[in-house]
Amino acid sequence: MIQQARQILQDTFGYSQFRPLQGEVIKKVLDKKDSLVIMPTGGGKSLCYQIPSMIFEGVTVVISPLISLMKDQVEQLDEFGVPAIFLNSTLTPEQYQYNVSRLRSGEVKMLYVAPETLMMESTRRLLSDLNVDCFTIDEAHCISEWGHDFRPEYRQLASVRKDFPDAVCLALTATATPRVRDDIQQILEMRDSEVFVASFDRKNLLLKVADKENPTDQILDFLYTRPNQSGIIYCFSRRQVDELYGDLKHEGHSVRPYHAGLSESQRTNNQDAFIKDDARIIVATIAFGMGINKPDVRFVIHHDMPQNIEAYYQQIGRAGRDGLQADCLLLYSYSDKQKIQYFINQKEGSEKEVAEKHLADLINYLEYDGCRRIPLMKYFGEDYGKEECGMCDNCLRQKGDLQDYTEQAQKYLSCVVRTGERYGAHHVADVLRGSKAKKILQLKHDELTTYGIGMEWSKNQWIQLSRLLIRRGYLEKDPEHGSLFLSDDAKKVLKGEERVEGILDRTQTSTGEDSRPRTTSDVENKHNVHLFEELRKKRKELADEQDIPPYVIFPDTTLMEMSYYFPQTEESLLGIYGVGSSKQKKYGAHFLKIIRDFSEKNDIEERSQSIQKKVKKTSSKQKHDLVGEEYNSGKSIEHLAEQFGVKSVTILSNLKKYLDEGNSIDPAGVLEASELSQRKIDEVYASMKKVGPEMLKPVYEDLNKTVDYNELRILQLAYMAKNGN
Ligand code: ADP
Ligand code: ZN
Repeated sequence: MIQQARQILQDTFGYSQFRPLQGEVIKKVLDKKDSLVIMPTGGGKSLCYQIPSMIFEGVTVVISPLISLMKDQVEQLDEFGVPAIFLNSTLTPEQYQYNVSRLRSGEVKMLYVAPETLMMESTRRLLSDLNVDCFTIDEAHCISEWGHDFRPEYRQLASVRKDFPDAVCLALTATATPRVRDDIQQILEMRDSEVFVASFDRKNLLLKVADKENPTDQILDFLYTRPNQSGIIYCFSRRQVDELYGDLKHEGHSVRPYHAGLSESQRTNNQDAFIKDDARIIVATIAFGMGINKPDVRFVIHHDMPQNIEAYYQQIGRAGRDGLQADCLLLYSYSDKQKIQYFINQKEGSEKEVAEKHLADLINYLEYDGCRRIPLMKYFGEDYGKEECGMCDNCLRQKGDLQDYTEQAQKYLSCVVRTGERYGAHHVADVLRGSKAKKILQLKHDELTTYGIGMEWSKNQWIQLSRLLIRRGYLEKDPEHGSLFLSDDAKKVLKGEERVEGILDRTQTSTGEDSRPRTTSDVENKHNVHLFEELRKKRKELADEQDIPPYVIFPDTTLMEMSYYFPQTEESLLGIYGVGSSKQKKYGAHFLKIIRDFSEKNDIEERSQSIQKKVKKTSSKQKHDLVGEEYNSGKSIEHLAEQFGVKSVTILSNLKKYLDEGNSIDPAGVLEASELSQRKIDEVYASMKKVGPEMLKPVYEDLNKTVDYNELRILQLAYMAKNGN
C-alpha cells in the first residue's frame, strides 16, 4: 500500500519524495493505527491524511477550526484533481445541499468540517449513513486547555469519534508541549496510538536579530533589496501598524495594514489582497496569521519584540513554507524589553513567574552570541547537536567582526562614573568627545578627567558601545530617565579582569553581503529570473480568472524549476516539482508555451550539463595581478587580506590597479566588504554617476559627508567594476 502512496505522491501531487515522517505516518494510518503527529508549520502535515484518503474506500473526515483554511485546502485539492468538499456556516443552502449530495454519491474522498457543524444532529445523521475510514483532527491542540488556543467545542469530538469505531484517528498539531500531547491522546481516547514528533528546526529560515535604531529606515533598507517578495511585518500595537503602514505606502510599497481595529470587511479585504499577490506586504499586529496558508511568504519582520519564543516561532513559521529560503528579522531594543517588563510587573503570582521566565528565555535568545538555533531548539526540548547552522546572523558573521573593545569600554564606564551616573548615552558620548555644548560647560563636565579622551571615535560609535555594554549587563538604564548606571560586574571591566568583546554596529538589516547565496540549491540560485517573472505573470492571470490564490496553481518552487530546466515537452514538464497529472492537463500548455517561446527567443536548450568555462589569461605577473586572479577565482577580500598578510584596504587598492589595467572583476565580491545598505549603496552610485567616480572628494561633498572615505573607496571599486573602466 505504501507503494501506492508513493505513486499518488508523484502522480497526483507531483512531488518525488516524502518529507521526514510523512511516509511512516501514512503507513500507520493505512494500517488503521491511531497516530498523533507533531510537526512544525510547513512540515507537511496535510499529506499525512490526504494521501491515505485517496486509498481508503470510504470518506476521510477532517475537523478543522478555521473556515478560511478549509476553503484553502479544498481549493488546493481541487487543483490536484482530488474530490474534496467542506461543510460549514458560510455555504448557502443550495451549496450545502449540493455538497451533501456529492458526499452521498460516494465520489468525495475528503470532507472538511468545523467542529460545531460536526456536532449538529443533521451532520451526525448524514455521517452515520456513510462509510467513514479516517477521522483527522487538525490543530488538535485546540482540545487542550493547556494549549494556546483552547476551543471547548473540540472537547465533544471524542463522542463523535465513538460513533465510528472502525475509523482510524489521526491528530495533527504544531504544538509540542508534553502536557498538550497527553491531553490530546487522553481526550480522544486514542487506542495504543503512536506519536510522531518531527524536528522543529526549519532549516530554510534565516534568523537575524538587529539593534533597533531607526526602525522605519531599517525596514526600508531591508525591503529595498527584496522588490518582488511577499512578507509580513509584525508590530506591537495598532497605532504602530498604522504608522508604519503609512510610511511604507508613502515610499511606494505595495502594502496593507491588518489589526483588530479595522472593520471585518477591511481585514478580509487586506488579507485577500496579500494572499492573491495584489499586495506584497502586510503590516499587522499578532491578530494576523492564523489560517494563512500562503507558502511563499519570503520574510517575517518583527518591528517590536514578540511576547515569547513560542509566539515568535509560530510567527516566523509562516515564512518559507514552500521550503525555499526565507528571512526572519527581529528589531530588538532595550526599551521594548522594558515595555514588556512593565506589563509583567502588573501581574502577580505564578502568572508573573511564567511571564518572567518567558521573557528571560527570549532575551537569552536575542543576546546569544553563538548559533541561534542552539537556544531556540533547546527551548523546544530538542538538542540541536551542531555548533553552527550557517543560516543565522551569528553563524554568517565573519570571524573578524568580533572585536575587543575593552579599552573603550573602560573609558565609557569611567565617564559614566565621573558624570555621577545621572546622564544618558548621548551626554556621556559628548563628554568623551570633548563637546563644547552649553550643557556640558554649564555642568563643568569639561573639567572632568574623562573629558575629550574619546576623540578617536564618532559619537555614534560611543552610543553603539553603550548598547553593547547594556547587552552585556555592565550598564543599566533607568527606565524613566534613560540615565545610565553601572552594574556590579562593571568593576571587573574597569579593573581589567574581564574583557569586552562584541560587535559594535548591529543595526544593519541589509548589507552587500546579503546578496550572497545562502543555499546550495542551483535551482534557487541560478534559475532564469526573467522567465520566472513571465511565469509568475501567467500564474497570476490564471489565478485571477478563477478567483483563487496564485500559489494554488503552482508554488514558486515549481516556477523556479521550470526556469532552471526549461522543459520543452509535456513529458519533461511532469518531472518538475509540483506538476501532477491534473495540473498538467489544466495548465501544462499555458506554461509550456511561455517556456518554449522564451527558450527560442533566447536560444536556450532544455537543461544540459554544459557549463561555460572562462579561459584565464596569463601574463607577466605582479602582486596586483596575483591578487586580481585569486579574487576572480572566488576568494573574498577578507580571505585575501589574510593570505597576503595585508589590510583589506591594500587588497582594495591592488584590485583597483588590476582593474585600471583593463582587467575585469566581479563587483558583488567587492560589495561584501561594504557595510552600507543596498539603498545607501545605490545613493552613492547615483552620486558617482553624477559627479564621476574617479575622484572621491566631490562624491563625499555631494553626499553631504554622510558616507566615510573607507566606504567610498569600496564603492568606487565596485562601481568601476560594474560599469567597466
Ligand atoms: P503544515 O500543515 O504542516 O503546515 P502543509 O501540509 O501545508 O504543512 O505543507 C506545506 C507545504 O509543503 C505545502 O505547500 C505542501 O504542498 C508542501 N509539501 C508537503 N509535502 C511535500 C513533499 N513530500 N514534497 C514536496 N512538498 C511537500
Ligand atoms: Zn546559526
